[in-house]
Order: sequence, then structure tokens, then C-alpha cells
Amino acid sequence: MGFFKRLLGGDKKGKSQRYIDMTGVYFYFQCDNCGTRVRVRADKQHDLLSEGDGYVWHKTVVDSKCFRRMQTVIHLDHHYQVTSCELHGGQFLTQAAYEAAEAAAQAKGDQPPDEQEEASESE
Ligand SMILES: [Zn+2]
Repeated sequence: MGFFKRLLGGDKKGKSQRYIDMTGVYFYFQCDNCGTRVRVRADKQHDLLSEGDGYVWHKTVVDSKCFRRMQTVIHLDHHYQVTSCELHGGQFLTQAAYEAAEAAAQAKGDQPPDEQEEASESE
């Protein structure tokens, strides 16, 4: 019997379950200044503050290109759905818009736009 117990209580680490982030909420921003998209994770337990019948999240978002600060205040209901939001210095993106823009950028090789310098014809 000891053998079966060992067998059943065996190693559970080998499971290849897809990781689902149950404690995080994701928000998507785009910097007004340089156009960089930023994805920010808020922890439901540590970052969101209880307020009324929902939550509020205060955050200063900084992109990785121009490092300009985007001040945001997001209100959520108790299903973690955004009910209102304020953002200074950037724009909100939906997850779909963010992923579409990222996919498009990758398809293009994510290169900065070519600045075509016209050769001056002064001959
Ligand atoms: Zn920026």
C-alpha cells in the first residue's frame, strides 16, 4: 500500500499547466511624447486600494524611451472592470489595441521610421 501512496502523492511539478495570473490586472498606455506603448501590471491585493464598492489605482507610469511620467488614476468596480480613468501625458489603450500595435511593430521588424534625407542637388 505504501507504494501506491507514494505513486499518487508523487511529483506535481511536472504539470505543464498554462500560467494564469489571477492576482494581476493589466493596463495599457501609450506615451503622448514618444508614442511608446507600456504595459503595467497592478496587483489586486497590493496595488489596488479599496474604495466604495470598487477599487482605485494610483500610478505613475514611465515609458522606457523618453521616461516622461504619465500620472494615472483608475477606478474599477469589484469585478476589476475599469469604470473611469484619468491620465496625464499619455493615452489609454485597450488590450486588443495594444496587442495589435505590438504585433504590427514586430511584423515591421520594430525599426524606427526611415528618415529619408534627400541628397541636395547643388551641382
Ligand atoms: Zn515617452
